[in-house]
Amino acid sequence: EEDQALLSGEGANLDGEAEGEARPVVAVVGRPNVGKSTLVNRVLGRREAVVEDVPGVTRDRVAYDAEWSGRRFTLVDTGGWEVDATGIHLRVAEQAEVAVELADAVMFVVDATVGATDTDDAVVKLLRRSGKPVILVANKVDDQRTEAEAAMLWSFGLGEPYPVSALHGRGSGDVLDALMAVLPERSGVGGAYARGGPRRVALVGRPNVGKSSLLNKLAGEDRVVVDNVAGTTRDPVDEFIELGGKTWRFVDTAGIRRRVHLTRGADFYASLRTQTALEKAEVAVVLIDAEDSIAEQDIRVIQQVIDSGRAVVLAFNKWDLLDEERRYYLEREIERELVQVPWAPRVNISALTGRHMDRLVPSLETALDSWDQRVPTGRLNAFFGEIVAAHPHPVRSGKQPRILFATQASTRPPRFVIFASGFIEAGYRRFLERRLREEFGFEGTPIELSVRVRE
Ligand code: GDP
Ligand code: GDP
Repeated sequence: EEDQALLSGEGANLDGEAEGEARPVVAVVGRPNVGKSTLVNRVLGRREAVVEDVPGVTRDRVAYDAEWSGRRFTLVDTGGWEVDATGIHLRVAEQAEVAVELADAVMFVVDATVGATDTDDAVVKLLRRSGKPVILVANKVDDQRTEAEAAMLWSFGLGEPYPVSALHGRGSGDVLDALMAVLPERSGVGGAYARGGPRRVALVGRPNVGKSSLLNKLAGEDRVVVDNVAGTTRDPVDEFIELGGKTWRFVDTAGIRRRVHLTRGADFYASLRTQTALEKAEVAVVLIDAEDSIAEQDIRVIQQVIDSGRAVVLAFNKWDLLDEERRYYLEREIERELVQVPWAPRVNISALTGRHMDRLVPSLETALDSWDQRVPTGRLNAFFGEIVAAHPHPVRSGKQPRILFATQASTRPPRFVIFASGFIEAGYRRFLERRLREEFGFEGTPIELSVRVRE
C-alpha cells in the first residue's frame, strides 16, 4: 500500500510536458572536479528535480528542469562520468562534443584556481568550432583574491570569464543573467529532451550499407520545405520528409551525406556520428547490407541503438541483389547473430529499386508506439501476480525472493521497476522480460527492467 502511494506520482516526468514545447537546452561541460555538479545544484537551488536519466554512451548525462528570471530551460550535467586516467583527454572532448551538439548554449566551467590545462584547450577548440553561444565560468573564485586568476582565462578567446563560486553562490546570478542573454527562446536542436513535432528518425549502419541511397530515395520529390513545418526551427542537418501522409524528421542527414573517408580515426567518427544521430532521434532505422554477411560492426550499431534506449527497425537493404541461396543463408545468420533483437521489426528493402519503401512507415510507427507504451500499474501487477504464481523464482539457500510490487517508471523507452524481497537472478529477469514482451508487445523497443530489493 505504501509503495502504491509512494509511486503514484512517478512516471509523470517528461510525459507531462506540453506537446510541441521546445525548451532551450544548456549543456554544462568541463573537466572532472571543476565544479560542474556543484554549479548545476546551485542553479537548481532546492527545487532540484531530475527530469530524465538520458541514456547515452556512458549513461551519464542527466537533464534537469531549470528556471531563471522566469525562463525555463533544460540543464544538462555531463559531470558524472568515470575518469579514465589514460583516455581522459579524449573522453572529455568526446563527452563535450556530444553534449554541445545537443545544446543551444554551453556553460564551459574551468577551475580558476588551476587555470587552463591542455584538456581545456581541446574543449575550447571544439566550442569555437560549434558556433554555439558559450558562457565561460571561472569557478572556485570564492573571494576577491582569486578574481585575478579568473581574468587569466580571457586567453581562451571565448570572451569574458565570469568569476563564480558555485559552492558559495558568489557571482552565480551574474553568470545566469549572461546565459539568459545568449540563450534562444526555443530550442533549435530537436534533441533527446524535446517533445512534440514530427517524429525524429536516425538512419544508421556501417559504411556502404546504403544510408544515403535510402535517404535520397525517401526524400525524392517529396522534400518538405523546412519553414513550412509548424513548430520547428531550421536545422540544416535535419531533413523533413513526407511519408505515409505524415512528416518525419530525419536527423543529422548532413552526417550521412558527408562521406567518412577511410582514414585513421574514421571508425571513431563514424560511431560518434551514430551516437549524435541517436541522441537526437526517437527511432533508428538500422540498415544492414543483406547481400553481405552480418558483421561485428552491424551488431555493434544495433547494440548502440539499444544502449541509447531508442526504438529500432531493422532494414535489410540491397534486397534486389539476393538470390534464393543468399536468402536462405541470411535467414540462418539472422537467427544466429541478431539474438539481442528478436523483437525488432524487419523490412527487406532496396534503396535502389524502391522495393518495400511503403513498409518502412508502418514499422516505424509500430516501434514508436511500443516506445511510448505505458502499462497501467494495476494491470502490470495483476500480470506479475499471475506469472509469479505459475513460475515462482527458484529457492536459493532456503529463501525465495518474492516480487512485491512493480511499476512502469517511464516510457521512451519503457522502464520497469520491480520491488522484490530478495535478489532476483539474471535468468529469472530475462524470463520476466520475455513474458512482459509476450503479454504487452513492445515490438521495436528496448525495455529496461530494474529490481530494487526491500530488506
Ligand atoms: P564536477 O566533477 O565538475 O562535477 O565537480 P564537482 O561539482 O563534483 O566539484 C568538485 C569539487 O570541487 C567538490 O569537492 C566541490 O565541493 C568543489 N567545488 C565546487 N565548486 C567550488 C567552488 O566554487 N569553490 C570551492 N572552493 N570548491 C568548489
Ligand atoms: P552509405 O555509406 O551507407 O551511405 O551507403 P551508400 O548509400 O553510399 O551506398 C553504398 C553503395 O551501395 C552505393 O554504390 C549504392 O549505389 C549501393 N546501394 C545502396 N543501396 C542499394 C540497393 O538497395 N541495391 C543495390 N544493388 N545497391 C545499393
